[in-house]
Amino acid sequence: MVKVFIIGAGKGGKAVLSRLRQFNWIQIAGVADLNPEAPAIEMAKEANIPTFLEDPFPLLNNLSVDLVFDLTGNPIVGTKLLNFPDAQFDVATGEVTQILWNVILELEDKESRIIQQLGEHQILLDISLMLSSSETPDQIFEAIVAGGVRITGMPAGSLSVYNKEKQQLFLVATKGFSSEFYKNAVYPVRPGGLTEHILSKNEPILVPDISDFPAFNNPIILKEGIRSLIAIPLVSEKGPVGILYADDFEPRNFQSSSLLESLRMLAAQAVIAIQKQQAFEKIKELSIRDPLTGLYNRRYLNKVMVSEIGRASRLKSPLSVILVDVDYFKLINDKFGHLVGDHVLQGLSSCFESIIRPYDVLARFGGEEFLILMSETDEVEAVAFAERLRQATETANFLPNGSTLTCSFGVCTFRDIQGSTLSPKELIRCADEALYLAKREGRNRVRLHRK
Ligand code: GH3
Ligand code: MG
Ligand code: MG
Repeated sequence: MVKVFIIGAGKGGKAVLSRLRQFNWIQIAGVADLNPEAPAIEMAKEANIPTFLEDPFPLLNNLSVDLVFDLTGNPIVGTKLLNFPDAQFDVATGEVTQILWNVILELEDKESRIIQQLGEHQILLDISLMLSSSETPDQIFEAIVAGGVRITGMPAGSLSVYNKEKQQLFLVATKGFSSEFYKNAVYPVRPGGLTEHILSKNEPILVPDISDFPAFNNPIILKEGIRSLIAIPLVSEKGPVGILYADDFEPRNFQSSSLLESLRMLAAQAVIAIQKQQAFEKIKELSIRDPLTGLYNRRYLNKVMVSEIGRASRLKSPLSVILVDVDYFKLINDKFGHLVGDHVLQGLSSCFESIIRPYDVLARFGGEEFLILMSETDEVEAVAFAERLRQATETANFLPNGSTLTCSFGVCTFRDIQGSTLSPKELIRCADEALYLAKREGRNRVRLHRK
């Protein structure tokens, strides 16, 4: 056991005391300083270490100590210690204690950085777990924003996802902002603009005070009172995926050197999570679409029909179905070839799509058959609508050499009479009967199913 006495309880004394206390083979015999409020005096009192507020030299005769640390910085104290008559202890003073103090400060700095880094890694691990257990897109987006906020220690944040076709960013999650912020949910990525600049970077952009960065002085940012921010570009090897922002309402100094590294790791995780989610959405979308025309397929149609019939029953509103079949399509294939036949089907799809209302459902029902589901539409409206489609088909130039193409239309309307209900199959069968009638009566016409 080495017995140590510390003279000088200022910052240096405190640094040495706190470090030496960690070794169980060192016993602190006492801390001395004339100032009762010196930091190391307070620390020693809390740790039940003897403290002395008087001239320490007489004490040294009575206390048995092995080593005296002089942290007063006063050369007179140092000289006196080194010339102590019959000293039974060693002395560390002057340059020696100065170097010791510097080493301790460096160690403390390193330690606090390691602790900070460990904290950030723990957060990254938490975010990974949160992302892997997120199921809906919203959960994923919110977990990414929460991660940005936690790692930076900033009070607010947002995530925008990039849409390449539209060249737009969509705000998908926010934290710590007013609901007004969400009203500006879509913003274009202009060539040479700020967003394009951020997305072209591979590094987070730190803005300690936005008043020094006029590019960030936009009305949305100012209105929310944002004063400092970090813009983290989310970029995959295939291109931009989005931008994650962390924001503060005060100017900020970004000091942690490990912050950038942690943000890079967060960005990498966020990119993977967003891409995975987008791929999943794409597969989900493909599974309900017909590959040739891009229209809804029969599987999806069946699902909406069930819910639309239920809704029509509840609301006591009419629901109409128009079944369309191309006339003599087999002959078209025979005469012009299958590829032209395919083009005709695509042309018809676009033609119908451009005419239907946003809330109508248009599906490819079979080879050259289409179905349009029209909620809150009675038989008069549905027949008139089918007639518009018929005329549009007849007048469009789908075929080479000015050959005309026509379609036949069968219309059927469901009305809930005293709680009656109908399956999608029955509704389609009625429309098919009307279509059969249209075919039998000469094609290129609309017929309504009558009970
Ligand atoms: P109708 O006026 O009685 O409806 O005569 P139709 O020739 O149109 O009727 P039919 O049912 O005999 O023939 C439909 C044809 O549609 C047969 C089939 O080869 C063709 N067809 C089905 N799906 C596709 C497709 O995806 N592409 C092309 N090119 N043809 C298709
Ligand atoms: Mg057919
Ligand atoms: Mg046909």
